[in-house]
Amino acid sequence: MNWLTNFVRPRFRALVAKQDVPDSLWDKCPICEAMIFHRDLEEAHFVCQHCGHHMRLPPKTRFQHLFDGGQYETIELPKAVVDPLKFRDSKRYVDRLKEAQSKTGRSDAIIVAHGTIKGNKTVIAAFDFSFMGGSMGVAVGEGLVSAAKLAVDQRAAFVAIPASGGARMQEGMLSLMQMPRTTIAVQQVKEAGLPYIVVLTDPTTGGVTASFAMLGDVQIAERGAQIGFAGARVIEETIRETLPEGFQRAEYLLEHGMVDIVCHRKELPGTLGRIIDLLLNAHAPKPAEPAAESKAENSSTNGSADTTPADDSMTASPNGTDNADAGSEKINNRKPVTGAKRPDAETGKAKFVGGGSGGGKSIGKALDDGQPKKA
Ligand SMILES: [Zn+2]
Repeated sequence: MNWLTNFVRPRFRALVAKQDVPDSLWDKCPICEAMIFHRDLEEAHFVCQHCGHHMRLPPKTRFQHLFDGGQYETIELPKAVVDPLKFRDSKRYVDRLKEAQSKTGRSDAIIVAHGTIKGNKTVIAAFDFSFMGGSMGVAVGEGLVSAAKLAVDQRAAFVAIPASGGARMQEGMLSLMQMPRTTIAVQQVKEAGLPYIVVLTDPTTGGVTASFAMLGDVQIAERGAQIGFAGARVIEETIRETLPEGFQRAEYLLEHGMVDIVCHRKELPGTLGRIIDLLLNAHAPKPAEPAAESKAENSSTNGSADTTPADDSMTASPNGTDNADAGSEKINNRKPVTGAKRPDAETGKAKFVGGGSGGGKSIGKALDDGQPKKA
């Protein structure tokens, strides 16, 4: 019986499910409902050519898009304990996991790959939202810790690309423990003097927003991405007020200083490449001329001058030149900080995590809001 329910049934379901999603020639935009030729959509990196909606991407498509020449290697992630709490809601958690595994063909919601971006060694940890809403349990925490270690070992930049409803409620407290755990992992990258960059994609919410996803040296967001802690509906019900238009969208967060750049997906490899190059190689010339400090300063400003023209193409941000300037300014402001300990950047983020979330109490709410929607 066990063999039938545990092995045969999921396999059978997977077979049937695959037939449900044929390699159709046309895709439908979930926002403007336009029909788009699949090949066109692929060429446009799954951005709707009619309304500009950025569709969710599986990690492998992201890797191919971001790494030089689409060349990368994924790493094997350590096995995590499966269902330590023997959790069961309407279904057993083990069954949910198996279902997600056969649907996506991966063991959990995160994949870690390494390669180069604009010639610089980079490790990317990308989430798969189609795997239980990209929720963060022990396995995902494990993935982020491994990615951070790999980045430190390789002296590589670390890029996290979350797409997540938050902590995985089926793992209870253990999933919440991944918040400090991933925060420490990211801190190790920073302490090694390596850049840590976050690319916020739609959606990034709950415990993921409240931990590693808001701690980047540079915070990039894809256009239109929903980024927040508790869901808008929950906030509205709690404070009994109507929220402003565009609340929790990438552009809104840019206007309010929560992210540095809002980027069109097609410009993401270029933007990431420039930032990584700037942060990884900014201090390289300094040890060569330790004699006069003023000279070293000059050379560092020259260094940033080199990159300023490139920053023009930060026009990535949607509202035109204003934001482009703001974006590049912020990067320039932060640049010297990266080498040192960047105290201001961190307290700024810490304020957001605490203040923006309205305190620890709402963690449960975020879980309530993020997770069951997926189920
Ligand atoms: Zn559209």
